[in-house]
Amino acid sequence: AGGNRVQVFTDELRVPVQEKIAAEARVRRALAGDPRLTLPLWFQPVVSTVTGRIAGAEALVRMRTPEGEILSPFHFILAAEETGLIVPLGEHVLRSAIDHLLHWQDRLGYVSVNVSPRQLAEPDFVPMVASVLAGLPGFDPSRIVLEITETALLASTVDVSERLTALKQLGVRIALDDFGTGYSSLTWLKSLPADIVKLDRSFVAGLAEDQRKASIIQAVLWLARSLGMSTIAEGVEEAADWEALRVAGCPAVQGYFFSKPLPAAEFDVMLRESFER
Ligand code: C2E
Ligand code: CA
Ligand code: CA
Repeated sequence: AGGNRVQVFTDELRVPVQEKIAAEARVRRALAGDPRLTLPLWFQPVVSTVTGRIAGAEALVRMRTPEGEILSPFHFILAAEETGLIVPLGEHVLRSAIDHLLHWQDRLGYVSVNVSPRQLAEPDFVPMVASVLAGLPGFDPSRIVLEITETALLASTVDVSERLTALKQLGVRIALDDFGTGYSSLTWLKSLPADIVKLDRSFVAGLAEDQRKASIIQAVLWLARSLGMSTIAEGVEEAADWEALRVAGCPAVQGYFFSKPLPAAEFDVMLRESFER
């Protein structure tokens, strides 16, 4: 988009050490407020299968280099996690996501942000979220969704369930990201106070032609509903999959079929069009 390139590493562990050190320095520079090196948020719509309208959006961070290149999170999130820079980066993402949400007012229901294991383990994480919300009198905190991945549970020594309960007491909602890809998904459902299940795209892509995937999706939809949770199917790329999910009763979907993640200005245009339809 906009003539910029997007590079994606398929295996983040292969990012060379040199690149990691460079990434760390760049994240530091960006967080220090260098206007030539920024960490903008891109937004991908979450669409209701009932109304066909945009219900919310997932905020996905990018890095914009002085050369105007747009880098995917694979180039810098891991380095940020390893150095602890993910903590101020996470606060930047949360504040920026809320700024955009306030700008979009009634046109966007909610925005979700990703929370990495290291962030959740940080003792200051819950107080940080609390202080951001305290600065927004009259703001409905349930319009913020925090997406947690299962690795957060495995990698962490803190009591994740306790931490999520504290976050929920602030009124924000919790989503279980990449659901189904880890080793203890059912344990997650049993023990964590989550509101939304985000079904991983490996179960979603090609589901219209794969009866096993379809059966798994139906079972997860039923499970989530029984537990009072909502479901979002990720990675919907084909019209046939969108239709199969709609028929199966999956309330919301996200994926390239509807839209790739967009820079805020382009998402704004899409939002206006969707709102005026
Ligand atoms: P994720 O949370 O699972 O985000 C979804 C990823 O899938 C995004 O990649 C998105 O562009 C991509 N995607 C969306 N729809 C489709 C589709 O239909 N097909 C396919 N093949 N892919 C699709 P992205 O933006 O490169 O983000 C990669 C990961 O980086 C995210 O995975 C998330 O774990 C992490 N990330 C992104 N932003 C943040 C952030 O602000 N903080 C933290 N801690 N992690 C972030
Ligand atoms: Ca996510
Ligand atoms: Ca995901």
